[in-house]
Amino acid sequence: MTAPHAFWLAGREATGEETFDVTNSWDGRLVGTVSVPTEAQVEEAVAAAHAVREEFAATPAHVRTAALDHVAKRLAERTEEIAQLISAENGKPIKWARGEVGRAVSVFRWAAEEARRFNAGDAQRLDTDPGSTGRLALTRRVPRGTVLGIAPFNFPLNLSAHKVAPAIAVGAPIILKPAPATPISSLILGEILAETDLPAGSWSVLPVPNDRMPALVQDERLPVISFTGSGPVGWSILDSAPRKHVTLELGGNGAAVVLADWSSEADLDWAAQRIATFSNYQGGQSCISVQRVIADASVYDRLLPKVVAAVEAQVTGDPSDASTDVGPLVSEDAAKRVETWVDEAVAAGAKLLAGGKREGATYAPTVLAEVPAGVTIACEEVFGPVLTITKAEDEDAAFAAVNDSPYGLQAGVFTHDLQTAFRAHRALEVGGVVIGDVPSYRADQMPYGGAKQSGVGREGVRYAMDDYTYERVLVLTGL
Ligand code: NAD
Repeated sequence: MTAPHAFWLAGREATGEETFDVTNSWDGRLVGTVSVPTEAQVEEAVAAAHAVREEFAATPAHVRTAALDHVAKRLAERTEEIAQLISAENGKPIKWARGEVGRAVSVFRWAAEEARRFNAGDAQRLDTDPGSTGRLALTRRVPRGTVLGIAPFNFPLNLSAHKVAPAIAVGAPIILKPAPATPISSLILGEILAETDLPAGSWSVLPVPNDRMPALVQDERLPVISFTGSGPVGWSILDSAPRKHVTLELGGNGAAVVLADWSSEADLDWAAQRIATFSNYQGGQSCISVQRVIADASVYDRLLPKVVAAVEAQVTGDPSDASTDVGPLVSEDAAKRVETWVDEAVAAGAKLLAGGKREGATYAPTVLAEVPAGVTIACEEVFGPVLTITKAEDEDAAFAAVNDSPYGLQAGVFTHDLQTAFRAHRALEVGGVVIGDVPSYRADQMPYGGAKQSGVGREGVRYAMDDYTYERVLVLTGL
């Protein structure tokens, strides 16, 4: 038996008394065993982070940028090994896993760049008021304190990078809590962080069991919580810690709108291809996956067969095979839930145009049309390889359909018209509007987050750095 993966406690390797297994949802094989920190070890990590917070905030930018550059370089060097691991622990097709490592490299590079520029400060004259003659205000951003970063299973490395890199960039200690299904890639990130000169105590990677998380969420020494995951867990964190600075990156049921002017054969081929790829990318387990296609009535009949054909062309299979587009979902239970939702929609009268089959943890890429309002799949985040397609009479009806959702993460609008693009930007109740593409586009430096039930706050390296800090003013007198 191989030794369990150690976790990272205040920058050093440690093991606890218990372990849990991480398995591959494609073939059930054991990917690794992970050591669980004891309560005393978690306490040690939190106390160390709290104790080092002032020292870390004062660490020179060149030390922090050197660490961030080092992590980017080492992740890039270890891409293949880490991609294989992500694919094994998550079930993600290897081509997408390689892409995920590349994105994490970019997050650390961006954080290094931003750290070079951050906190140059600002000066404001105050002598505009007679009572303030001779006064000047200088500002600088200071870390709020230790960040508790809670990551989901679906992008186990990159969404951990989105917690860790901005924290290092601003000099805020970070305690990273990876998802139970996919902790090993975050532990490898820990291995690389341990090669840097960051102060001991400034970072930990702790696979804490879910039932022990409420205590950490409540801990006053962790004033910032950056959570990416499901709505019920996210909102319960905010409810239980209302005085903390909480960022919630939650789910969505992303819409792709195809408008009347997006009508040439080439336009519709491109839209169908993008829709098929990004409703199935990562088995549909992406928060900005295409779940709803809303097509203008004038293009609907031509788009529909193209979407069905492109979805049917998605290659389902072994995630370690380079030709696989769609691997298994994270677990058989997840695939069974998707199956139940599709079956419910079909029983209620929806037309099944592709897919609709499950084999173990794998669910076939699926297209549903004429889905009755009110069925679960029409209202909730499916988090599986399923899209619904509906017809809208015109642009206004299409935009109203996008907004007819409790979620508001991103929307994609296929149009060539600049005026329409601006109208979409104004009308759609989402955190981001992507013109000429699906809602699933994300660059790691852009502000990213949701409206409505999709969350609060923004990620994107610079935006998370703002979130992890606050502005402190220095008023000078007698100048
Ligand atoms: P999840 O909510 O089950 O778990 C997320 C994390 O929270 C895990 O690390 C989990 O261990 C932890 N957790 C569980 N119970 C907790 C508690 N009581 N207190 C604190 N932490 C707790 O989500 P998941 O299944 O890993 O991820 C899927 C969800 O994440 C989907 O809804 C998806 O849309 C969303 N997501 C959102 C974004 C985004 O940026 N908006 C990105 C990726 C995924």
